[in-house]
Amino acid sequence: MHPAITRTLEVVQHRNHSEPVFLQAVQEVLETLSPVIEEHPEIEEQNLLERLCEPERQIIFRVPWRDDKGNIQVNRGFRTQFNSVLGPYKGGLRFHPTVNMGVIKFLAFEQIFKNSLTGLNIGGGKGGADFDPKGKSDEEVMRFCQAFMNELFRHVSYKRDVPAGDIGVGAREIGYLFGQYKKLTNSFELGVITGKGASWGGSLGRTEATGYGTVYFAEEMMKVKSDSLQGKTCVISGSGNVALYALQKLQELGANVVACSDSSGVIYDPKGLDFDALRMIKEVERERIGKYTDVHGSATFRPDAKVWDIECDAAFPCATQNELDAGDARKLVKNGCRLVCEGANMPCTPEAIEIFRGSEVNFAPGKAANAGGVAVSGLEMQQNAGLEHWSFEQVDKELHKIMRGIHESCLRYAEQYHRRGDYVSGANIGGFLRVAEAMICQGLI
Ligand code: GLU
Repeated sequence: MHPAITRTLEVVQHRNHSEPVFLQAVQEVLETLSPVIEEHPEIEEQNLLERLCEPERQIIFRVPWRDDKGNIQVNRGFRTQFNSVLGPYKGGLRFHPTVNMGVIKFLAFEQIFKNSLTGLNIGGGKGGADFDPKGKSDEEVMRFCQAFMNELFRHVSYKRDVPAGDIGVGAREIGYLFGQYKKLTNSFELGVITGKGASWGGSLGRTEATGYGTVYFAEEMMKVKSDSLQGKTCVISGSGNVALYALQKLQELGANVVACSDSSGVIYDPKGLDFDALRMIKEVERERIGKYTDVHGSATFRPDAKVWDIECDAAFPCATQNELDAGDARKLVKNGCRLVCEGANMPCTPEAIEIFRGSEVNFAPGKAANAGGVAVSGLEMQQNAGLEHWSFEQVDKELHKIMRGIHESCLRYAEQYHRRGDYVSGANIGGFLRVAEAMICQGLI
């Protein structure tokens, strides 16, 4: 490892010792940059790595709200504005009880490189709260979103910081957040948030974008191997927005998706899952996944199981960070899985990735493979700025083009820096170079 990287890692570890997931994300990126630092001495001269690992700004705030019983609840809100050399901070909001500063920081850090890879002018940021939407009434969710925006509004705008959704934040929450922003600022500023409803300034195809994009990326990976997804047995973890639309696109391309999951367990049907039934249960009724077996008798529900135990050709981790560990990776390799494409952010542990990279598995990291969501957010910003509303086909075509471009960049940078076929190095190097160049051009800020 280049000494500049070792030194930076020491500083970052010292500064962030209580934030293991952030350290993990930093380490995973820096470890692949040695050949770049060797070729560009200005990166070391300008102490660019240390600057890159320190967020420009972090906001922590109190979110007080009233529940349905009339009691006052308090949550903690966060927004990390990590890097703005390529554009306004851009990244989602996550509402989940596991959210803390370290989680938001790791997600914001990943977002810098992901957003850079899209080729669009968007910087990196992320936010959220340790609020658990599970079991909350619609009214409670609305009051929480309003309370969250009561503080966030002073830190965001279409030219400063543009939030969107992530785990626990979908179209419903984006609506409540936007409504409160509008009320507080007395301005109808569509470009302040993305993931809006299509009838009031949102982009068609944004809901589907992350899942579709991940599958478009996987399809490109298969093409390189002169293969396709047609007829492949696939498993997907999760059943949220990313997982659902990855499933739909995989089926459209002729793959057989036999399993997906939520935090209560796995549903498995060797004949393939029914997208409409799943969408109804998870997106509309907001129910647990076990209910699927009421509709489809051929499916089995396995409480507390993992989809990685099931034999497959391709696996799509689309739930959350560190959900696939070394043991899972070994099982997948042993059972003949040949492609792992991350739809979630950092779902595979470093040990699992090591196992994939040392095996026959073709592995794609989330910051490349799941960039479709933020890419279509960028297209939403573009439509808002131009007072336009594109058709679904137009958005989908652009998404496909962006994903093909990211795939091509990963392979090109991997090749250029002597890591042929390594998507992890290619994504990190490609994402990093654009940010590094802009940081150098914009001076010491
Ligand atoms: N939360 C998504 C991600 O992880 C999308 C962010 C956005 O659209 O700004 O990339």
